[in-house]
Order: sequence, then C-alpha cells, then structure tokens
Amino acid sequence: ASRFSVVEAGPPIEVFALTKSFTDDPFPNKVNLGVGAYRTDDCVPWVLPVVRKTEQQIANDLSLNHEYLPVLGLDSFTTAATKLLLGQDSKAISEGRATGVQTLSGTGALRVGAEFLARLLKYKTFYYSTPTWENHRLVFMNAGFTEPREYRYWNAAERCIDFDAYVADLKNAPENSVIILQACAHNPTGSDPTPEQWEKIADVMQERKLFPFFDSAYQGFASGDVEKDAFAVRYFEKRGFEFVCAQSFAKNFGLYNERVGNLTMVFNDKEVIAKVKSQVTLVIRGMYSNPPNHGARVVSTILNNPSLYEEWKGCIKTMADRIMSMRKGLRERLEAKGTPGTWEHITKQIGMFSYTGLNLRQVEHMVKEHHIYLLKSGRINMCGLTTKNIDYVANAIHDSITK
Ligand code: PLP
Repeated sequence: ASRFSVVEAGPPIEVFALTKSFTDDPFPNKVNLGVGAYRTDDCVPWVLPVVRKTEQQIANDLSLNHEYLPVLGLDSFTTAATKLLLGQDSKAISEGRATGVQTLSGTGALRVGAEFLARLLKYKTFYYSTPTWENHRLVFMNAGFTEPREYRYWNAAERCIDFDAYVADLKNAPENSVIILQACAHNPTGSDPTPEQWEKIADVMQERKLFPFFDSAYQGFASGDVEKDAFAVRYFEKRGFEFVCAQSFAKNFGLYNERVGNLTMVFNDKEVIAKVKSQVTLVIRGMYSNPPNHGARVVSTILNNPSLYEEWKGCIKTMADRIMSMRKGLRERLEAKGTPGTWEHITKQIGMFSYTGLNLRQVEHMVKEHHIYLLKSGRINMCGLTTKNIDYVANAIHDSITK
C-alpha cells in the first residue's frame, strides 16, 4: 500500500472543471463564458502587438542573459509598476515612502503580502467580500492567517452593492483586521463602490484601525483608462493610509502565463522601508527564492518607454471597448426579445465580468441544453461573447429564463 493512500481527493476548482467540460463537449456551437481571460472577437487569446514587438526586441538583444534576478525582482519593473498604480504625482513616491516588490503575478503578490503580515505583524483576521474571487480565502489561509471573515457586498435582488451591510460589517471588524479591497472591476460582480462610497469606506477603516490590502488585477479594464481605474488606491494614499496592493499584469498586458506581478507597499515613514524589505526578502527567499525575468522585462520595457506606453494604452482601450460593445449588444438583444427581468445591470457593470442574475436552475439549463458554460453563480466573462455567438447566447438566456 502506498503511504499516500491516506490522501483524500481535494474538491475540484470550479473554473478549471468548467473549462474541461467545455473542451470535452463536441457540440460545434458551444460557448465558454467561464474563463477569466480576454478573448478576441474570434474567441482566441490576444498577444498585444506592443508585447509581441517588445519580445522580439528582447530576443534580439544579445546583451541580455539568464542570470538570476535579485530576490525582490527587477528594479526598473517594480519602480514603473509602483508608479503606474500610485500615479505620477504620488506623494508617497516623491517622499520615498513607497516601494514595490516583484511577485508571481497578482496571486503571488497576495501571498507574499499576506505571509509578511501574518509573520511579521502577527495579523490573524482577514475579510473578503461575499462574493469575491474564489482564491482569496485559500491564499490568505495558506499564508498563515487563521481567522477568515466575510463582509457583505452584494444585494442580489437589486443587483447592486449592498453598501449599508458592507459598512456595518467593517464597523464590526476587530482592530488590525486586514480588509481585502478589490481596486476596480470587482470580480465577480462587475460593480465597484462610487467615489463617495470609497470615502465612507476609508472613514470606517480609519476609525476602526483596519488595514487595507488592495487587489488590483484589472487596472485599465474597468474604464479603459489606467489612471481612472487607480482612483481608489490613490484616494487611500491621499488620505494617509499605510497599505499594500497586489498588482497583476496578467490581464492588462495579456501576460497570464508569465506571472508578472508587483506588491506595492506604502508607509507613512520612509525609515521602515529598509527593514521591511529585508524581511520580505526572507519571506520570498524561503518561498521561491527569486522571480522569473521575461514578463517583468517586457512590462518594464513598455512602461519605461513613452511611445511603447502610448501603444499599450491603445491596446487596453481596444480590449475595454470590445467588452463594452458586447455588454451593449447583449442588453439590447435581451430587451428586444422582452426577456423577463431588467437588463440594465449588464451595461452598468464594468470590467470583464458580469453577474447576470441567472439562478442555478437557469445556469444548468444554459449548460445542458445550450452548451454555454458559465459559473454556478451566474457570472459570465463578457469576452466569451463575440459578434458571431452573441445572438445564440441571448436566445439561450431568454430560453433558460422563460422555460
Ligand atoms: N485578484 C483577482 C480579483 C482576480 O480576478 C485574479 C485573477 O483572476 C487575481 C487576483 C490573480 O491573477 P494572477 O495571479 O493571474 O495575476
């Protein structure tokens, strides 16, 4: 008998299981609305032209080699990433109170940040929104947090943020709780707080001495503009908070499998930076030693070159515009058909995801009868829609609701 026979099978991860069912389905008109990645109107992944060009340039640069990067990553990358998040006129940057650490994409930044907070500050309690990206809880628990808690976020009946409940839950949080705040384009609801609501959230967090841990996985995807999408993080900086932010470059550079991320850290005293960095170095050294080079080099090259930077902003706009046009197209079709319910939320929600409001029975109907794959929560990735399949999907939604 194997010593491993004591191991029980773990639960499947819904998105990956869904993609497998989709791949195994021989139906010709099947549609995958489950994945968390951008797709073109031909339903294929997109290598941003500016990324392709930069990669070619890197491949031809014979001065580059495969030496290890430092434990905290490529300096030119972390500096540019921190500036992209906090902005050109950030006081934390000009006063030397902000720093960045290269990580294994957004997930790695969450893990390194969480492990640092659990080990060095002995923080135990963390809060995530219900609903949230399904991985927050696992990442924080694996990093050493022991008290997982939820703050209410969604009013399913009204299809909007349940702001009173949100604030009430923050008010009840014990001091030094870490609050995971999605910076923009909330996954899965596609609904972000308004500037006034962020102000109130900041008030409560200040009053209750809570620690903000931003998760910025979609900068640029909410509005098409990277500056606008950084509003919440920059607002907290201006308010004088100390915080950390996990930044992912998977979506906005289309570099999913290169694992490019940055953990931005903002302090109110620059004197703490050297000591903090020495401890983050040990966290990373003991976890994976040092990060990969390729994706960070691509992002750094683009962010540090004004003309490539402009080209990149154009690519983000292309992606955001396509998503917005699919939102508009889906809403128009459902309204034209008179599909029961209201469909305004489809265009009001932002970013890649839409929380359709379809219930479990309707979701199952979509999968079984129409070969359209979506999460049980009713979340769909707008990028799974194309000008070729949008009529098919709208008809299926109508059918699943009226049957
Ligand atoms: N945070 C949120 C809210 C996400 O949706 C994702 C990816 O889906 C991530 C973080 C992490 O992504 P990655 O590790 O690929 O950068």
